[in-house]
Amino acid sequence: MTTRVVQIKCPECNSPITARQVDMVFVCDACGVMHTYADGKPVRIEYETAAVSREAADGRVYLPFWKLDVAFNVKRSKVKGGYLYKLGKFLDRDSSGGRMAMMLPAFDVAPEKYKELAESLTLEPPAYAVAPWDRAAGRVPCIVAAGQTQMMADFLFVTIEAEKPGIMQELDYDLEVKSQKLVYLPYYKAGGRLEPAY
Ligand SMILES: [Zn+2]
Repeated sequence: MTTRVVQIKCPECNSPITARQVDMVFVCDACGVMHTYADGKPVRIEYETAAVSREAADGRVYLPFWKLDVAFNVKRSKVKGGYLYKLGKFLDRDSSGGRMAMMLPAFDVAPEKYKELAESLTLEPPAYAVAPWDRAAGRVPCIVAAGQTQMMADFLFVTIEAEKPGIMQELDYDLEVKSQKLVYLPYYKAGGRLEPAY
């Protein structure tokens, strides 16, 4: 077995990029463009960084989330009570379809925590201002590839609605990810846990 060291270069400005950690995405220090690889080819990724609104003492990190613009259409649903329990608020008026912004954790996190974060940040979208990187804060690696988001969006869609066991009997739907970007939300260490700093 041989290890091949590949020099990563920014697809935008051609500057060499030094990868400091195992990460699915690379940010160019020179021009700020983020890219990943799909089928061995560089692909540009849209991203934004949320501003810090709570000045915490120390230990601040950015956690990556895939923010998806999702269009959905519910073709058939059998729900006790006759309406969608949580997804209902995303439906367009007098329509079986709607649009929602999903926030999917893209870092290494336990399944229960993943579910909790994805649901809470999707049902109650975080309010944040966009700001430049704070380079003093670390960036937690993104481990979810851009091509995995459709599958994860389907999972979250069903999970949100199926939370109360026994209520949803059937859900037949179409779901399409219209666009996506990586959002880095700042967190800080408080005791043994991470608290939002945005
Ligand atoms: Zn560049």
